[in-house]
Amino acid sequence: MLRVGLTGGIGSGKSTIARLLAENGAVVIDADKLAREVLEPGTDGLAEVVKAFGEDVLNADGTLDRAALAAKAFATEEARQTLNGITHPRIGALTGQRMSEAPEDAIVVHDIPLLVERDMAAVYHLVIVVFADSATRLERLVTSRGMDRRDAENRIAAQATDEQRRAVADVWLDNSGEVPDITALWDRLVGFEKNLRTGSYASGSPLVVPYDERWPAEARRIARRISVAAGGRRVEHIGSTAVPGLAAKDVLDFQLAVEDMETADELREPLAQAGFPYVGPYVDTPRGEGDWSKRLHAGADPGRRVNLHLRVEGAANWRWAIDFRDWLRHDTAARDEYAKVKLELSRRFAADGNGFAYGEAKEPWMEAAARRVQAYRGGQES
Ligand code: ADP
Repeated sequence: MLRVGLTGGIGSGKSTIARLLAENGAVVIDADKLAREVLEPGTDGLAEVVKAFGEDVLNADGTLDRAALAAKAFATEEARQTLNGITHPRIGALTGQRMSEAPEDAIVVHDIPLLVERDMAAVYHLVIVVFADSATRLERLVTSRGMDRRDAENRIAAQATDEQRRAVADVWLDNSGEVPDITALWDRLVGFEKNLRTGSYASGSPLVVPYDERWPAEARRIARRISVAAGGRRVEHIGSTAVPGLAAKDVLDFQLAVEDMETADELREPLAQAGFPYVGPYVDTPRGEGDWSKRLHAGADPGRRVNLHLRVEGAANWRWAIDFRDWLRHDTAARDEYAKVKLELSRRFAADGNGFAYGEAKEPWMEAAARRVQAYRGGQES
């Protein structure tokens, strides 16, 4: 099952996109709807609310008087927390239940306005943010939904900012104008779900491209997801995409620090379930004494190539990955030299898509670089 988080500011068009995804076959779980369900007449949630806030939050027919509850619950921070303490666990349980009821091969879209505010991004395989600028949103809320202008303004102001939402967006859908075409997005979700279910990863022979300014933010999102799946262990963005200004293959490399290889093997399943299936055991090209073995995982998302290297914290290859990156970040002349070598070789080997030959041909430069990295490391330590 693929878990997709869908969010956006009020009036951005989130429900509109959710509807399109459902038409394609997604199982949509609507957080707002569940929030109402847990306070329906006859629920223990509603009974708790009445106990905490009094009979006068009910209408004559026994349903919840939302305005009356809002007046009381948003009066003080303490009251707000009391209400959240009643509703949040129940909404969470109901969400879990709905997810577990979805078929094994489902693409589950969790439509959740407060994804950012609740810091939920890392629990999804992918986060989609629907965007419309606030003036457009305000206009839609007032004209299409008949909301009071002041009320709409207040609601927009109380939510997360566009910048906060951008930071968690794996996919950014601009819905300021025409409703965007989601065909390509849907194909990506279908491919992602299939890879996830079959333990496959995205493949192909990527070319070396110019440095992309979006890589660091993208890497932060993915590193967080990996770390959460790996029980909070240390994850670093390494490799060429982690060096500002360096041309690179558009594959993000991450290093997950493990205590030992048994731990790496225990993490195999949780990482696969989080979207990073196992590839195999490897030994890195040794650049000195020590342990150069690792476990390799890769990303299942066809829209984002990822390599994930599990190395023992403190081992020679763990150290090398960090030092090599830091040296290239520090020494821009070396970085540019490396870029030239990579571009030449990638052109030479592009035709046959031979990643192995490309790696081999890089070796003479890498061997010389190893000595320079050592000198750099020595300088750092003294
Ligand atoms: P949200 O769920 O994010 O609050 P909705 O999907 O309900 O937003 O959209 C808010 C209003 O704007 C609705 O009336 C919807 O029909 C309308 N709307 C959504 N997308 C567009 C668009 N691209 N152009 C014009 N109106 C839109």
